[in-house]
Amino acid sequence: MDRADVIIFGGGMVGLALASALDCSGLSAIVVDPADPGERTTAAFDGRTSAVSSSSIRMLTTIGVADELAEHGCPIRQIAVADGLKPGGLHFEPDDDEPLGWMHENRHLRAALFARAVKAKNAWLLWKSKVADVSRNEHGVTVALDDGRKLAAPLLIAADGRNSRTREDAGIRVARWRYDHQAIVSVLRHELPHDHVAYEIFYPGGPFAVLPMSDGAVGHRSAIVWSVPNDDAAGWLSLTDDDFAAEAQAAMGGFLGKVTMLAPRSSYPLGFHHAAQITGERLALIGDAAHAIHPIAGQGLNLGFRDVAAIAEVLVEGARLGLDLGDRQLLDRYRRWRSLDSLSVAFATDSLTRVYSVPGRTASAVRRFGMRVIDRISPIRDRLMAEARGTSGELPLLLRGLPI
Ligand SMILES: Cc1cc2nc3c(=O)[nH]c(=O)nc-3n(C[C@H](O)[C@H](O)[C@H](O)COP(=O)(O)OP(=O)(O)OC[C@H]3O[C@@H](n4cnc5c(N)ncnc54)[C@H](O)[C@@H]3O)c2cc1C
Repeated sequence: MDRADVIIFGGGMVGLALASALDCSGLSAIVVDPADPGERTTAAFDGRTSAVSSSSIRMLTTIGVADELAEHGCPIRQIAVADGLKPGGLHFEPDDDEPLGWMHENRHLRAALFARAVKAKNAWLLWKSKVADVSRNEHGVTVALDDGRKLAAPLLIAADGRNSRTREDAGIRVARWRYDHQAIVSVLRHELPHDHVAYEIFYPGGPFAVLPMSDGAVGHRSAIVWSVPNDDAAGWLSLTDDDFAAEAQAAMGGFLGKVTMLAPRSSYPLGFHHAAQITGERLALIGDAAHAIHPIAGQGLNLGFRDVAAIAEVLVEGARLGLDLGDRQLLDRYRRWRSLDSLSVAFATDSLTRVYSVPGRTASAVRRFGMRVIDRISPIRDRLMAEARGTSGELPLLLRGLPI
C-alpha cells in the first residue's frame, strides 16, 4: 500500500499545481491520471492559450513554476471592451506597474507545471493509471488501480476536469447548461504591435477576444478566442487560413493591421457547470471538476488556481496542528472560503455573456451607456480590475506571493 497525505485524481494544470504547492510545505501527494505524460511535454503548438491573472502568477512563482515560464509570457497591461466596432467602450489600465495578467501558450504552462511536479520530493505521478475502486470512510481513503496497485491517504482531491467521474461517483449534483456556442481558438500574426492590450469585442453572434502574445521570430502575435453559434462553427473551421484571417481582420476593424494565421484553429463547445457541493466525506473538488465557466473573461483556470491556493493553505495549517487532513472542519473551511467566490465569478461571467448577446440597436445603446458610466466611476473600474488581477476577496497566502 502506497501512502501519502493526499491522493489527487487528475494531473491537469490544476492537479499538478496542487501537488507542487503541497510539496513546498512538505505534504505528500500521489497524482493519478489515465493520460500519457508525453502530451504534457510535446512542443507542438496547438493554438491554445490562457490568460493567467497576476495573483495566479504570484502563486506559480512562489511554488517554483514561474521560472520556466518567464521567457514566454506576455504581460496584459490594458483591457479594452467594445460593443462591436462602435466607439465608447471600456478601458482598464492600472496606475501601477503590475500587469493585469499574463498570456501564455497552454503547452508552456503544462510543461512548466509538469517539470515542477516531476522535481517534487513529495509527489508521485502515476500516469496511464486507471482507478478500479475507491473507498472513502471515517478511517481514510483507499484506492485500487487497475494494475493492482493500492493507495491510501486521509483525503482524496478530485481534479479530474469538467466530466469528473469522482464527482459523479460521489453523487454530487451539478447545475449545468450549454451556451449553444463554440469557441474557435488560434494565434494570429499581425502587422502592428498590440501594445499589451487585451481586446474583448462583443458581437451579437458572440464575443471575440484578441489577446496579446509575446512577439516571436515571426513578428507580432495575438491569440484569439472567438465564440460563434454552434450552427456556424463548422463553416468557420472550414474556411481557408487566408479567408479566416480576413474575417478576423474585419472583426478587429483593422486596428492591428494585416493579419495572417500562425497556428491551427480548434473549437471547444462552451458550457457552464457548477457543483452543488465542493466537499464530501474525505473529498474536495478543485478546478473544472468543481466549476467551468464561459472563457469570455479568461477566468476558468484562474478559479482553479484559487482553489489550489485555498485548499493548500487549509491542509498545511491543519497538518501543523496535527489534524486528520480529511477532517470535516478543515473541508468546511475550504468550502466556505471558495464557494462564494467561485459562484460570484461564475454568475458574473454568465451574466456578461447574456447581456452582450442581446441583439438590436436599443440593447447596444444601453450597453454602451453602461460602459460609459462604468468608465467614469473609478471605484467600479478598480473593482473590475481587481477581479481581472484576481486580487479581490480574502486572498490565500500563495496568491499574495507568500509561502504557507
Ligand atoms: C476555449 C477556452 C479558452 C480558455 N481560456 C482560459 C483563459 O484564458 N484563462 C483561464 O483562466 N481559463 C481559461 N479556460 C479554462 C481552462 O482551460 C480550464 O479551466 C482549465 O484547463 C481546467 O484545468 P483542470 O486541471 O481543472 O482540468 P483539465 O485540464 O480538464 O484536467 C483534468 C485532468 O484529469 C485527468 N482525468 C480525467 N479523468 C480522470 C479520472 N477518471 N481519474 C483521474 N484523472 C482523470 C485528465 O487526463 C486531465 O489530465 C479556457 C477554456 C476554454 C475551453
